[in-house]
Amino acid sequence: MKNVVVNSPIGVVVIGYGGMGGWHTRLLKQMDEFVIKGVFDIKDERNKAAEENGFKAYKSFDDVLADNDVQLVTVAIPNDVHKDVCIRAMQAGKNVVCEKPVSLNSAEFKEMVDTSKKCGVLFSVHQNRRWDHDYRTIKKIFDENTLGHVFNIESRVHGSRGIPGDWRNEKIHGGGMVLDWGIHLLDQVMQITAGRKLLSVYAQFSYVTNEECEDGFKILLEFEGDLHFHVEVGTNNFINLPRWYMTGENGSAIINDWGLNGKIVMVSDWEKRDAVPVETAAGFTKTMAPRTKDTIKEYPLPQVSGDIKEFYRNIKASIEGREEQLIKNEEVMRVMQLIETVFLSAETNSVITDIDF
Ligand code: NAD
Repeated sequence: MKNVVVNSPIGVVVIGYGGMGGWHTRLLKQMDEFVIKGVFDIKDERNKAAEENGFKAYKSFDDVLADNDVQLVTVAIPNDVHKDVCIRAMQAGKNVVCEKPVSLNSAEFKEMVDTSKKCGVLFSVHQNRRWDHDYRTIKKIFDENTLGHVFNIESRVHGSRGIPGDWRNEKIHGGGMVLDWGIHLLDQVMQITAGRKLLSVYAQFSYVTNEECEDGFKILLEFEGDLHFHVEVGTNNFINLPRWYMTGENGSAIINDWGLNGKIVMVSDWEKRDAVPVETAAGFTKTMAPRTKDTIKEYPLPQVSGDIKEFYRNIKASIEGREEQLIKNEEVMRVMQLIETVFLSAETNSVITDIDF
């Protein structure tokens, strides 16, 4: 038990009142399990904004740490300062939730986890996209073996606004799309493929709108059991490719967007192989001729549920010793090691096969 009375609401302070800090306060405000004690931001105007929204703004981080009514600190500040702020909070006896990417590399993350063990407090990472319904849908189709042996999964996120003009543009702050969006997508990949050995990694970065930090990437991952993943982020894409595409021996699934538009198409008759050839402008193909309607069947995507409040409910239950953390630090460590391998592959333009995590 870490500094709390079971069944009482947990006093929480959000550090950093920017885009994501605001999101955490809005979520926590809806939950009886937590009482928001206030926020702290290094910028006066953000503290003022917090006060206008009805939150106490602490005068300093030390004031937060000295407040005995604060049992949990949620850290939502730029990536390069996660480590120091989280460690100081844990050393002051606070349980800590840290935004993703938890740190800039696996060594920093180890330091943070070691501190939580030494101080006997909870330390968890906000890998919230495990509750996104697009991910849960593709995982359900995969887990239930709906398509038979799946050999290819493609996960893409496309935007057309470049990298926002803030700290995300600067390496020193942990900018770039690998640490920003890659961390979510690779975490999802590692959840889907849990238990399988990762055999190879190949990554290419793009710098279309930004010279310093990668504004997009393509990552190819091969897992044991003949499973290949294509993970892609683009910030200069004016037409989006589907969020998810999965192909198995008996069918394909597509999820076009976060609105869950998509479908499953399954083969219903393998025997009927006759195809009506397609005449292109300059040729002819039977191999690529579309299937006739009588050999395939279309299905809607399965229904999934998922409520991000479950993340914070589990944080409370873990602090009180009633549940294990849903976001396990060993899982986060594996993703951090994968991210390092991705950077190595892109820097050396090589396929990395020497993988021991
Ligand atoms: P932001 O720039 O909008 O806000 C960051 C805030 O932190 C700013 O107001 C800044 O003044 C403040 N700050 C900086 N250093 C501080 C310090 N030492 N102490 C207190 N305040 C400090 O950034 P953001 O978009 O809110 O991102 C914050 C974190 O949240 C990043 O790690 C980012 O990767 C993460 N994030 C996660 C998600 C998600 O879905 N999980 C989405 C967006 C951002």
